[in-house]
Parts: sequence; structure tokens; C-alpha cells
Amino acid sequence: MKETARALKNLLSSPKNIVITTHRGPDGDAMGSSLGLCNLLQQIGHSVKVITPNEYADFLHWLPGNEDVIIYEGNEEEADAITANADLIFLLDFSHLSRIATFADAVKKSKATKVMIDHHQDPDREIAELIFSDTTACSTAQMVYEVMDAMEMTSYLNKEIAECLYVGIMTDTGSFKYASTTAKTHHIVAKLIAAGAENTKIHDLIYDNSSANRIKLLGYCLNEKLRLYPENNAAIISLTAEELTRFEFKKGDTEGFVNFALAIKGIKFAVFIAEKDGMVKLSLRSKGDFKVNEIANKYFKGGGHMNASGGISEVSVSETITKTEQIIKEYKTELTKSN
Ligand code: 5GP
Ligand code: MN
Repeated sequence: MKETARALKNLLSSPKNIVITTHRGPDGDAMGSSLGLCNLLQQIGHSVKVITPNEYADFLHWLPGNEDVIIYEGNEEEADAITANADLIFLLDFSHLSRIATFADAVKKSKATKVMIDHHQDPDREIAELIFSDTTACSTAQMVYEVMDAMEMTSYLNKEIAECLYVGIMTDTGSFKYASTTAKTHHIVAKLIAAGAENTKIHDLIYDNSSANRIKLLGYCLNEKLRLYPENNAAIISLTAEELTRFEFKKGDTEGFVNFALAIKGIKFAVFIAEKDGMVKLSLRSKGDFKVNEIANKYFKGGGHMNASGGISEVSVSETITKTEQIIKEYKTELTKSN
């Protein structure tokens, strides 16, 4: 980290045109780390644009700097021109170009120096010249703080950066409860709060800011769409496009639903399946050492972390349920072994 940070500090010693991008379907960590880093780079004199592959949930729109984010889908020409002209491109919270979808071509073509800051497994080391990869880090936002610290730039930590990074750490740790949450995480969070991050306000803006439809959709999922496989310690919740439309689905509405299935006593493996944007998307979660990233990778063209992964399915929702049921059966031994 020290050496890479020195190289980055060197690159940042003169004004640059910088693009920051993050994965498709940006979550709290993707947006928090991107906007936090954007604020730092702007303060030290760079021209910076955050470009996301597509739209993200409304509950992230209050983040400082959100108004200047460019969404690639629908603004391709403008984003391509900015990317072609960039000296530096930061790749945050992902480590394979497939995760930025249609934006990947422009990033690949750009002559800019690429800098990856990410905490996912098996990074593709070909896609960036400078790589900060820490698969033990709870979040990319925590890593952004650490990179800032390693570059001796924590004096630039203001309320805006602090709130952005707090959101990234909070959302990627399930509010500081996942195993990835360490003493270091809490030390960093303490510094963010000291720098002005209003923790109670942030929890409220992210978690207690739902539409009535979202809460009703959650009730529907739990009452009518939860399939339990108690003999295999697994659960599935699924939603079709028609059901999402019925509850006036907005991006981000189903975030966290999978955790309710995992909250049931005994359940070690929970799957949420939903038909969105003409695709069937899966969220996989587990407890203990059951590796959902292996399942996401093997069966659903995806990946992620040991206990939280995602992927896509190319068949219908009902066929995806059948496929998932087969996987649950196949992994019965692992799912039912006592820890
Ligand atoms: P979620 O279920 O919240 O969409 O995603 C959980 C985690 O799984 C993400 O933080 C990310 O690490 C990973 N993930 C989600 N979707 C994909 C995907 O399509 N491909 C890969 N490689 N990882 C994914
Ligand atoms: Mn993350």
C-alpha cells in the first residue's frame, strides 16, 4: 500500500483530468467511495468527473457531489469524450471490466493511467497500472480512507468526504455487523464522525426513508414469496417483473430483502431472485463459511464476497428458482454440517 500510495501521490502532484467510475448498479459503497474520493481530488486541484454505468437508488441521491454525477446510459457521447480526454481513471469497488457494462469499451480505449481501489476477490490485474486491492477490507470506502492516510492527505477530510465514506462503510458492513468489521473499521469511523459525519442522520436517510410501496413489497415478499428449505438450511425469495410493477418498484427498493430470509433461525443460505431491466438478477447471502461467491461464479456469471454475492441468470424467474433448488440440494452436506 505504502509504495503504491507514493506512486499515486506522485501522479497527483500536478493538475489532472480525472474520471472516477464504479460498478453497474452502484450501491452505498460504490457511490460513497467514488464521491468521497472525488471531493478529495477536487480539493487538491484536479478536474474530476464521477461516471456511473447506470442509475442508482434514490436513497443515495443526497450524497454530497451527487448532482455532478454523469450516468453513462443515456449520456454516452459526453461520457466517452470525457473518458477519452482523461489522464487518470479510478476504478472503485470492482475489479473486472465486465462490471461496468457498456462503459467498459471507453475505459479500455482511454490512454489514461488506471488506478484500482477495491476489496473484491481475484482482481484482474491487467486492467489497472496502480492497484490497491485488499480482500480483507470491509469496504472500498474504508480503503479510500486508508489510501488518503497513506498519501498523508487526511487534513483534507471534511464533512462531505466523511459522510460519503461513512455511507460506504455502513452499507457494506450491514451497519457494522459483518465479520469484515474490525477495530480498524471502528477507528476510521470514529475519525469520520469527528470530522462531521452525522451518523444518526445518515442511518435515517439510508434506512428509514422508504416509500410505503417498498415496505408493502417487503411484506408481500415475506408473506407470500418466501420459500423455505429447512432440511437444507436455505431460503429463496423471488419477484417477477409483473410483481415489481404492481408495487411501483423503484431502483433500490429490494435492497436488503435477502437479509430477512437470512435472519430466520437456522438459515445459512438465502437467495433473492428478481426480474429487472429484462434480466434475472440474483443476490446470494450466507452465514459462516458457506461461500456464495463460488456459487455465483459457477452458476450465475457473477461473484462477490464469501457471504454476499450476486449474479445473473439467463432463464426465467421460475426456471431460476428450479436451478437454485437444485443447487441447494447439491450443497446439502455443506449447508447442514454443524460448525
Ligand atoms: P447485491 O446482491 O447487493 O447486488 O451484490 C452483493 C455483492 O455481490 C456486491 O457487493 C458485489 O460484490 C457482488 N456482485 C453483485 N452482482 C454481481 C455480478 O453481477 N458480478 C460479480 N462479479 N459480482 C457481483
Ligand atoms: Mn464494496
